[in-house]
Formats: sequence, C-alpha cells, structure tokens
Amino acid sequence: MGKAYLVEEQKEYLDRVFEENPVMNSVYPKDSRYILDVFAIEEGEIEYFDLSKSPIYRESFSLNNTKLTEKGFYISDACIGCAKGKNNCQQQCITKCKPYFINQKNCLHCGLCYEDCPVKAITKVGE
Ligand code: SF4
Ligand code: SF4
Repeated sequence: MGKAYLVEEQKEYLDRVFEENPVMNSVYPKDSRYILDVFAIEEGEIEYFDLSKSPIYRESFSLNNTKLTEKGFYISDACIGCAKGKNNCQQQCITKCKPYFINQKNCLHCGLCYEDCPVKAITKVGE
C-alpha cells in the first residue's frame, strides 16, 4: 500500500526483473515482456501473506519509515483461560498463558476467536 509511480528506466528495470525471476520468461517470452510496466513505491506498507504454510505466515514491512497500520486481534487481561478460542482457532496460533495470547505472525485475522470468547476478552484493533 502506497503511492505508485512508473519508473523512467522501464527497459533497464524490466530486464532486471526478468533476470532475477527467470520463470517470467515462460510467461512473457522474448520481447513480449516490454508490454509490462514497472512501477515503484517509495513510501508505504508491505504485507507479506503466505497461505501455503500451515499455520499461515504474515509479516508487515514499512517503506521509508511509514507508520504501519495495526491490524488483527489481541487478548486482554479479562481472559479467564477457558481455552475456547484456542480450541477453535484453525491456525492454532493461540498459546496458553496468562492471559492467552495470539501469535500475530500466524493469525489469519478470521475473527473466530473474537466472536466465540465468552467474556469478550478479545479486542479487534481499531474497535
Ligand atoms: S476464549 Fe476468551 S476467555 Fe477463553 S481463553 Fe480465549 S480469550 Fe481467554
Ligand atoms: S483471528 Fe482467527 S486465526 Fe487469528 S487467533 Fe483468532 S481464530 Fe485464530
């Protein structure tokens, strides 16, 4: 997320993109690559999200010290340790502790734990 702009040195960057990602040559053989546009984002946020892993993996990065937007769910001290959210979490990213806590790197942000908590101990960022 950020403001994108087209880079001036299109050919130079396109050739570099294909050099670093050779698999692109089978999708855009020979000169057909030059139909593509290369853009850059200098300030913004990157959210890396890998659904092929189990549990899923996510990580956020800031470009040029842009403030990261907080997302997700957190367990507060109101947690009574009933384990309901932990048992229902498909990603198994809730750890038993006092209070229980969510491993943010593996959380899908599905909100199932938030909806199921009997004492409303889970908060959604921004609410
Ligand atoms: S469901 Fe709520 S009270 Fe139960 S362990 Fe999870 S956060 Fe704590
Ligand atoms: S939001 Fe979904 S993935 Fe994340 S801890 Fe709750 S149930 Fe698990």
